[in-house]
Amino acid sequence: MAHERCEQCGNLTPPWDTIHRGSDDGRYELVCSFCFNVRIAESTGFTGFENVRLDPIRMIDCSGESHQFHFQIRLLGDLMALDAFELRGDLPAGYRFQLIGEPDDDVLVLLGRLVEKIRRALSVRHIDFRERQIIDSTVRGRIEWDESQEGHLPLVVVDGKEVSWIDLGRMLMSMEGWQFRLDIADPGEEL
Ligand SMILES: [Zn+2]
Repeated sequence: MAHERCEQCGNLTPPWDTIHRGSDDGRYELVCSFCFNVRIAESTGFTGFENVRLDPIRMIDCSGESHQFHFQIRLLGDLMALDAFELRGDLPAGYRFQLIGEPDDDVLVLLGRLVEKIRRALSVRHIDFRERQIIDSTVRGRIEWDESQEGHLPLVVVDGKEVSWIDLGRMLMSMEGWQFRLDIADPGEEL
């Protein structure tokens, strides 16, 4: 997907880091998240907000696979969201993590907490993808849109990999008769 120029700073910006923002004259402008945050900080008066661009980092999971995480900071009213995600092409896919902080929090402290959260998640595997079975008795993941199901069935992302609802169902059938508990948590919570 093509990178577009931020209308504020002029930098070529990948699709995952562009935000369409309604400007004062009523039209939409395309800005990078950095310039978006500058605008929000100005309009809300958060002088303590520290705006930085964070470089991607590479981390290894417990099966030796390497994952590159990109970071995005977004000032959302009186909250600051720090997201970490992998990319496929130019779009987020795979592992995805979020921390919610206050606008005047130290970004590097939040980043440190987020990296620890990623490290904890990468140290656990839930599915044996070769045997197509659940390794232990717990599965943690994320609920996503499945293009092929038009919103009727979810796609889940477990261990950073996409698993169809049907495939997850097949894996559960080796535990027929067992009980289960389904807990849903918001993206910033730790499972
Ligand atoms: Zn910009």
